[in-house]
Amino acid sequence: MLVTTKKLLVPARAKKYAVPAFNVNNLEILKAVMSAAEKMRSPVILQTTEGAIDYAGIEYLAAMIRVAAKGTVPVAMHLDHGKDLSYIKLALANGYSSVMFDGSSLPYRKNATLTKRVVKMAHAKGASVEAEIGALAGIEDLVSVEEKDAKLTDPDEAAQFAKETGCDALAVAIGTSHGAFKFKGKTHLDIERLRRIAKLVKLPIVLHGASGVMEDVKKLAEHYGAKLGAARGVLDLDIRHAIRNGVAKVNIDTDLRLAFTAGMREAVSDLPKVIDPRKLMEPSMTLMREVAMRKMKLFGSAGRA
Ligand SMILES: [Zn+2]
Repeated sequence: MLVTTKKLLVPARAKKYAVPAFNVNNLEILKAVMSAAEKMRSPVILQTTEGAIDYAGIEYLAAMIRVAAKGTVPVAMHLDHGKDLSYIKLALANGYSSVMFDGSSLPYRKNATLTKRVVKMAHAKGASVEAEIGALAGIEDLVSVEEKDAKLTDPDEAAQFAKETGCDALAVAIGTSHGAFKFKGKTHLDIERLRRIAKLVKLPIVLHGASGVMEDVKKLAEHYGAKLGAARGVLDLDIRHAIRNGVAKVNIDTDLRLAFTAGMREAVSDLPKVIDPRKLMEPSMTLMREVAMRKMKLFGSAGRA
């Protein structure tokens, strides 16, 4: 069934688990994630960025996700990091059940004003809204306390923002960052800050930049020639702490990309005589399915559908 993210996330926050939100760009990623969700009986959020929409075309993406939602687990169709209102409108017109408006790089007032506008537009269509306050940056990049306070989410500001905008979920910055190179030194999330935010903000909290950069998948990709150097993600332990303290949606893109790449490289290298794209993409799909299942176990969403 196609549902809103609100419908999936409110019970998740109350029961202290998180719903995985996977970025999907093509049929292979989508099918791997859905196969995992059905197997694990996990609700799932399928999200597309503006970039994914440019790549695949929104009609294709929306149609595929609508088919996925006809299965046996609840599915939300979500726009990830909508920055341009034209994409928000496009997503809502194409039946997305949820949109993110990301005004995190804007000054507070401008972010709040635009978020309110998006909330009005989305709620009129029965869709829910994720907003963001604070700027994602690896904690290691922020040397001083003043710098951390300037970039990471301020709990009082988050509370004011949530109340003022009427958004349904709130993405916060507590030290994660996007991509495969999240931490230079020791990995670290500001869980204390998250606790203070969660005390004031009763909405489901969203964690971006939360991939783990799993060591075995990274090793496999590197074995087949990928050069990933010091790629490093968020520790499972930190993810568990975050979920216990109010995080109800965890975004995963990098880990699927890594799995796709590892499987692709393995197939191309090990099957030199094969030219059937379906065969060449099989290892990628198997690995992505495995990664998605591991996330569902880690987040506690397995068995909740
Ligand atoms: Zn993000």
